[in-house]
Amino acid sequence: MESRIKTIGVLTSGGDAPGMNAAVRAVTRAAIANGMRVKAIFRGYKGLIEGEVQEFTTQDVSGIIQRGGTILKSARCEEFKTPEGRRQAYETLVREQIDALIVIGGDGTFTGARSLSQEYNVTVIGVPATIDNDLWGTDSTIGYDTALNTIMDCVDKLRDTGTSHERVFVVEVMGRDAGFLTLNAAIAGGVEAAIIPERATIAEQIDEALGQGRRKHKNSAIVLVQEHAVEGGAKAVAEMIEQEHPDYGTRVTILGHLQRGGSPTAYDRILASRFGCHAILALLDDQRSIMVGMQNDEIVYVPMAQAIKQKKDIQADRWNALHVLSI
Ligand code: ADP
Repeated sequence: MESRIKTIGVLTSGGDAPGMNAAVRAVTRAAIANGMRVKAIFRGYKGLIEGEVQEFTTQDVSGIIQRGGTILKSARCEEFKTPEGRRQAYETLVREQIDALIVIGGDGTFTGARSLSQEYNVTVIGVPATIDNDLWGTDSTIGYDTALNTIMDCVDKLRDTGTSHERVFVVEVMGRDAGFLTLNAAIAGGVEAAIIPERATIAEQIDEALGQGRRKHKNSAIVLVQEHAVEGGAKAVAEMIEQEHPDYGTRVTILGHLQRGGSPTAYDRILASRFGCHAILALLDDQRSIMVGMQNDEIVYVPMAQAIKQKKDIQADRWNALHVLSI
């Protein structure tokens, strides 16, 4: 059966994540392999409103699978949050004869896509890409594994100085409202304590970790702090530790945008390639308003409304493991 979709549009939006390029490549090549034309939209919804569109061939996505960031660029676009902005975006879709839109991004990107699809009956497919891994319905999002590995490398390096100089390093980690990056980097880096928004145990937890470590002759420690878990972030936590444990030298490291860059891991490249292919298969299957996800290594289609509205819970067993292993 021939697909009713002749031309797709593809864009990346929101915070950039390593592996977005691998997803753009996969979407482009899978679409062309299935007889569709591909129109690349630059700068996310801003480019959609302003008509920054270019037809892509398979060659346009050569040599990008290993590159971090996004060749399509990304932008935040307040205008798209308004009905007038979305009307202009829809006009671009009509003008460019785009029958379906594939959006690669996070929660905000999907919220915008859903509004567009509700108002104008546009077929949209979401490909989850955010280092925060905060989307419900998928075990992992594109970019999360790479960021996790970057943070782990940084923790390893800080550990060298921490043990040599007998210090506490308080390290601030990204994640918006979610603690996945912090919790899992904490386990992988073997740190003494982690502070995440999903669990409110700050003062006691740090005291326990540092106090018990001391008694067991630990002379240094690493504490990870999710950026929005505590008002004032890592700096505030460091001040608290300095007051309670003045015998330690305390240092703050804010990893910042280091966490977003770099070449994607094999895991993220494969995930992005699978998601990209399945976004096209979803269109052939007449799906609309869904997010492509991965659950227990199987690809699934999740209603976009659910992916946006439901909150993915932090993995309780991992939280427990961190506590058992950190002391
Ligand atoms: P992410 O997709 O990584 O969560 P943002 O939250 O910054 O990133 O969202 C990316 C873009 O999606 C925004 O700049 C805006 O254009 C669009 N967007 C976000 N929230 C909404 C909303 N409630 N309604 C319409 N568009 C939205």
